[in-house]
Amino acid sequence: MKIFCGKAIFRGIAIGKILFNSKNKQQVRRNKINDIDTEISRFEKAKEKASQELNKLYEKALKEVGENNAAIFEVHSMMLEDDDFNDAVIDKIKNQLVNAEYAVAKTGDDLVDMFANMEDEYFKARAADMKDISERVISKLIGEDSSFQLKEPSIIVAEDLAPSETIQMDKDKLLAFVTKLGSSNSHTAILARTMNLPALIGIDIDSKWNGKQAVVDGYSGKLIIDPDKETFEKYIKIQKDDLEKRELLKELKGKETITKRGKKINLYANIGKPADLSNVIEHDAEGIGLFRSEFLYLDSDDFPTEDEQFSAYKKVAETMGSKKVIIRTLDIGADKQVDYFNFGHEDNPAMGYRAIRICLSQQDIFKTQLRALLRASAFGNISIMYPMIISVDEVKQIKVIVKNVMAELENEKIDFNRDIEQGIMIETPAAVIMSDELAKEVDFFSIGTNDLTQYTLAVDRQNPKLENINDTHHPAVLRSIKTVIENAHKAGIWAGICGELGADTSLTETFISYGIDELSVSPTFILPVRKAVRDSE
Ligand code: PEP
Ligand code: MG
Repeated sequence: MKIFCGKAIFRGIAIGKILFNSKNKQQVRRNKINDIDTEISRFEKAKEKASQELNKLYEKALKEVGENNAAIFEVHSMMLEDDDFNDAVIDKIKNQLVNAEYAVAKTGDDLVDMFANMEDEYFKARAADMKDISERVISKLIGEDSSFQLKEPSIIVAEDLAPSETIQMDKDKLLAFVTKLGSSNSHTAILARTMNLPALIGIDIDSKWNGKQAVVDGYSGKLIIDPDKETFEKYIKIQKDDLEKRELLKELKGKETITKRGKKINLYANIGKPADLSNVIEHDAEGIGLFRSEFLYLDSDDFPTEDEQFSAYKKVAETMGSKKVIIRTLDIGADKQVDYFNFGHEDNPAMGYRAIRICLSQQDIFKTQLRALLRASAFGNISIMYPMIISVDEVKQIKVIVKNVMAELENEKIDFNRDIEQGIMIETPAAVIMSDELAKEVDFFSIGTNDLTQYTLAVDRQNPKLENINDTHHPAVLRSIKTVIENAHKAGIWAGICGELGADTSLTETFISYGIDELSVSPTFILPVRKAVRDSE
């Protein structure tokens, strides 16, 4: 028995045979060509075939892993048509008189290096996508089949896996992924999570493992090759328990989120875009507790227009019907930077020009969003929530702006909900301390524990070096939550949590004892939290 440690990117246990994906880099030779036009036309035809294949993969992914995850194949199609890629290939064919395979391979390698050397983790992860695209075109030029088929249930071990390879595999025969390369941000990692498959990265893989029995422990990040009898039986038991737990959780779909004493907790989901709605419905959320509207801005090359925003908010409101949809106004700045805002350099962006501070100083941006939100409120049960509040004065300023926007809509005879519920996020120590006063001004509080922890403990939530002291269970954080709930109730309003801590089931009973009214969590945590609530007094 041998044990190898890596990093788990999705939890769970897999037991089975290893299938080593020894996909060798296609051998591409450099040949001198005479006929430039023929070579360019070979490249164009290969690209056309690659593009058709990507469309098919998109359709398959759409069915199996949803629109959000399938989008990567649209990105691949776009990268395939990218001018930088195409011009560089054609330039090499024309000026270096090389064969199309070589021109594609060399261009692909250059772009892979460029992405791999970028600082930003997201762009780094795109190196794998670029590699995937160039290999797909090369395989079409060489006439090789680039797909990888499974004959029996297998743990896939590979140097790296491209999203297209992952999606091509027969889902019923996939047990787990183990790779040497890759990051938790990569699309293969995201696909593994969506497919509910345990996955490890950072394992020093060996082709000799092909065909061996193994265990993937997606809890501790271990790969165990040739497990001994005792280890094997231990993992069979954990796997069985996991399965039972998952089945039990499924039984909670459609059940009430209610404590043993009969207190109802509103259990809502956090989303970033309308495409996340399928996940919300699948996991049986009772509403949306946090729609991070800034993703509409992050996904766009310019300020999203009122109509673009309106149609996104309306879609979410209509899909959720009478269920509550809490939309948070723009929370840009800090770690969420957008070029077209032209923020300029800030020494302390987390404590800088962000969220409501931007909205109150650039009111045209804020008003556009408020108009879109109010117009959408005529189509469902929308509430508005304001982020990063530090004072009663800010809330008063917001109210004046909202009133003016409402008057504008009334003049224009546009329908909206005049009694729309408006709340604030409590994510600064100032808001906690002022929560008794703030509660008199708003309809609800939603505690953003991610930022509240960062600002209360003075610990940068982005800094991996501080992971050990980024203690969300710190008594100062818990006391703050308790104070906020008490002050909300004194003023007759409700209080919830929409930060990640809301999904921490080791604290569910504590939050209930504080009197929490609502918890809003990532869709996959809905059922585990429902169970924790139902198990609480
Ligand atoms: C929070 O700070 O807890 C929160 C929910 O907001 P975000 O994570 O988007 O900053
Ligand atoms: Mg926050």
